[in-house]
Amino acid sequence: MAVKINENYLLIKSNYIFSEINQRVEKYQNDNPDADIIRMGIGDVTRPLPEAVTRKFTEAVQEMGDAKSFRGYGPEQGYDFLIEEIIKNDYAPRGIDLSVDEVFVSDGAKCDTGNIQEIFDLSSTVAVTDPVYPVYVESNVMAGRTGPMMDDGRYQKLVYIPCTEENGFIPELPETPVDLIYLCFPNNPTGMALTTEQLAQWVDYARENNSIILFDAAYEAYIQEDNIPHSIYEIEGAREVAIEFRSFSKNAGFTGTRCAYTVVPKEVMGFDSAGNPHSLNSLWNRRQTTKFNGVSYPIQVAACAVYSPEGRAEIRESIDYYMQNASIIRNSLKDIGLRVYGGVNSPYIWVKTPGDMNSWEFFDLLLDEAHIVGTPGVGFGPSGEGYLRLTAFNTLENTEKAMERISKLSL
Ligand code: PLP
Repeated sequence: MAVKINENYLLIKSNYIFSEINQRVEKYQNDNPDADIIRMGIGDVTRPLPEAVTRKFTEAVQEMGDAKSFRGYGPEQGYDFLIEEIIKNDYAPRGIDLSVDEVFVSDGAKCDTGNIQEIFDLSSTVAVTDPVYPVYVESNVMAGRTGPMMDDGRYQKLVYIPCTEENGFIPELPETPVDLIYLCFPNNPTGMALTTEQLAQWVDYARENNSIILFDAAYEAYIQEDNIPHSIYEIEGAREVAIEFRSFSKNAGFTGTRCAYTVVPKEVMGFDSAGNPHSLNSLWNRRQTTKFNGVSYPIQVAACAVYSPEGRAEIRESIDYYMQNASIIRNSLKDIGLRVYGGVNSPYIWVKTPGDMNSWEFFDLLLDEAHIVGTPGVGFGPSGEGYLRLTAFNTLENTEKAMERISKLSL
């Protein structure tokens, strides 16, 4: 008898979008070798690690090469020296008390948002905003929680919460109670943020319906406006119903270095089939200690430098740089009559396609006529149809050049 695979993997459809983009761009470049293509679809940072970070990183690498300071396996949950910096800088100033064993350092918010579903029963109902960061959906597809994708592009058993122009990209509470709710704010891909009042509605909903909110704050560093919560724990009662994911990827350029963390307060409970409560903190700790061996020591030292005065200043400068690009994109597109969203508290700009063009038609038009690559919104879910995502992760020069080209198009 041949080995059987986990057939849930065969149910995944969506990621073809990124290979489709690459194929179209490659074909265009082959047909038009002189075209200077500007990629504005990537969600990866373009500026290097801050100097304060690389200095500490290098020193820690040297320590590892010296018998006197060499370190082997570290704690799976992360070194206290980093966790203490995280609490002191990211939470305490906002009036949020966390203990060291409520923070789990990891190698990425992608892994953590993808893995967290393991600690919940397969029968748990799952809600995602639509459009959505695909990891939340696909990790649940692989686990067998979603059923197949239907003709409308939605997985049968997932609850989709549309975020569209009609509702100002603010997710509305689900009509039927759900167990798990993935929220990402500031949002990828729409670039929109929730105010404290808007997020509080979700926390209240979770408390009333015994739901758990899985809150992805990977873009927290881009928040510019007041009244946008930086952490879900700024909302009263959230400690009982929310897990929060943060990352050093987008604030400090750690996309290739890998460091992130997840907060699981001890009050967040799940229940066994006999109705007994269990702390999700213990379950996540169990999961991590079994399946993860911690982030390397030099990387955790490097992450600490993110909080140093020099590190902070360098990070502020990078974020300001990206946000200047974001505002150039927003303003240029608005000037030519396009409807644009996001880009104020996030590096993502969500553009409504002109007329009744679909996402791919607009993608092709930008590629053919302006040599600009965006990401078709439909790749993030059915409600992303009719939109395209552009990102501020680029040089100022390229951003300005791209906007000049778009401004000349007749849309
Ligand atoms: N969460 C969201 C919403 C993202 O957009 C991304 C990266 O694009 C991540 C998480 C991944 O973060 P990390 O690099 O820490 O894995």
